[in-house]
Amino acid sequence: MAANGKRSRPMECLMQHKTFEAWIFEEDELDEQDAKTLRQHLQECDQCYALKKTWPKVETLLLTAPPVMPAVGFVNRWQARLENQRKQRERRQTLTLLAISSGGAGVALALFSLALLLHFQLFPQNFLETIAQITEWALFLDVAGEIFIGLARTLPAAIPFPLWMGFFALTGAGGVLWLKSFRKLAQFQGLARWA
Ligand SMILES: [Zn+2]
Repeated sequence: MAANGKRSRPMECLMQHKTFEAWIFEEDELDEQDAKTLRQHLQECDQCYALKKTWPKVETLLLTAPPVMPAVGFVNRWQARLENQRKQRERRQTLTLLAISSGGAGVALALFSLALLLHFQLFPQNFLETIAQITEWALFLDVAGEIFIGLARTLPAAIPFPLWMGFFALTGAGGVLWLKSFRKLAQFQGLARWA
């Protein structure tokens, strides 16, 4: 509120202020009567006068401002997030297949152990030999498993997912073939309950 009185704000200004503000923004579209009223008001009102003086600059600024761009790095971050999600998805798929494959291997190993146990029961004289063999096999499987796990940890990042699909499909097919041969062997040995 100006103190000099000349540019103080009369009461009617307070009442109509919003209207005058709107008029300032669309001054070009005012008819002669309204334009005259506005000019009159501008001489009496500091605030509207200031707005009137400032608005063209603001308007020019708004009209000439470059289009609003996404924050710098936004696209990069977005792409990085997508890439991250894709990697996580592939990792999940690989782990799922690995778990399934490991489950299959576990079942095969259990059957294999049972076969050895059977072998031991049928041929008790080979007990120590069999234990030694089982130990050897266990060690071999342990080492092989560690190598496999090491590969599984490092390779998924380097090898495209379709190749892993092929690898697991082959492993699965191998497991099925192995089980079939095992059943044939069991039948051959006359152990009907294995068939
Ligand atoms: Zn005013």
